[in-house]
Amino acid sequence: MTDCIFCKIVKGEIPSRKVYEDDDMLAFHDINPLAPVHFMVIPKKHVDSLATVDDSWVPVLGRMMAMAGRLAKQAGSPEGFRTIVNTGRIGRQDVYHLHIHIIGGPDPLPRMLARE
Ligand code: AMP
Ligand code: ZN
Repeated sequence: MTDCIFCKIVKGEIPSRKVYEDDDMLAFHDINPLAPVHFMVIPKKHVDSLATVDDSWVPVLGRMMAMAGRLAKQAGSPEGFRTIVNTGRIGRQDVYHLHIHIIGGPDPLPRMLARE
């Protein structure tokens, strides 16, 4: 997709700090990290969000999830991490190219959502 910032990162038109890359996926550090470890895993092929994938995405999404633990460990989150996939308006998604946030670090994170 021409106007998509993450597609531009995939194509190398916008720089990123890469964590991992293969034919199907790319992982790169978040530009505005929320914790000592914060990177994103994205499919190289554009898809808007988790709300718009169909069954053809199962293998790639499965591989992305299966890589998360290894990459988190290598990045400095050896004892677990949090995965977040913000989806659509309700999920407060800002960038409409599906991405899995991997967030962690040496210390435990705050609880998932604050109770109001
Ligand atoms: P979301 O709210 O889940 O759509 O998150 C989008 C994330 O993309 C945010 O955490 C941003 O900090 C991150 N982001 C936006 N632009 C870039 C970029 N050029 N390189 C790395 N991360 C980015
Ligand atoms: Zn895209």
